Amino acid sequence: MPGDELTVIDGGVGAKNAVLKTLTMTGFKSFVGRTHLEFAPGITAIIGPNGSGKSNIADAIRWALGENNARVLRAKKNEELIFAGSETRRGLGMAEAVLQLDNSSGRLPIDYREIEVGRRLYKNGEAEYLVNRSRVRLRDLQDVLAGAHLADNPFVVIGQGLVDQVLALRRSDRRTVIEEAAGTRRLHLRREDAL
Ligand code: ATP
Repeated sequence: MPGDELTVIDGGVGAKNAVLKTLTMTGFKSFVGRTHLEFAPGITAIIGPNGSGKSNIADAIRWALGENNARVLRAKKNEELIFAGSETRRGLGMAEAVLQLDNSSGRLPIDYREIEVGRRLYKNGEAEYLVNRSRVRLRDLQDVLAGAHLADNPFVVIGQGLVDQVLALRRSDRRTVIEEAAGTRRLHLRREDAL
């Protein structure tokens, strides 16, 4: 291993990408009606007053990508992910979030140029995972996403405060964060194991 330099194993500007095109939420947290957001191409900024639901959008993306820790999604229990009602609207029985990913690069190991991954949660605790509208197991969803390091990667969504935390880290710890985000960390660990 060369000293402190970061060796790029996978990723970088020329690498294949899986691009987030759209997010559709229905009944997820504060999004009671069907809400459809279009992202790619380019950079999208979402602006709104405090408490208007900006962070709920990031939570929906994390959730659709298979996040199972309610605390990471800023909820005490899973049921809190479902619209709970307001002064004028009754609560709902189901939450849904669907991501549309452009896979024309083939980065995700599935034979489609466009992939939809979705997740539903019912009030009775029942859950559904969807790939291209077919019901699959969580494991299958994670297998598809793992090809682009989108599964089980805590840095796919950089939440509020994380940038500050990362900048405050020691250099060696910051390197670990960058490697984890780039998906090279897993390969380093495998290499260490092999050695
Ligand atoms: P800030 O800028 O303060 O971080 P934000 O725009 O990111 O705010 P969020 O934290 O995404 O806002 O949204 C919080 C809002 O979502 C609160 O008003 C909260 O009541 C609402 N909310 C969260 N969960 C639910 C739920 N299950 N049902 C209804 N509303 C919910």
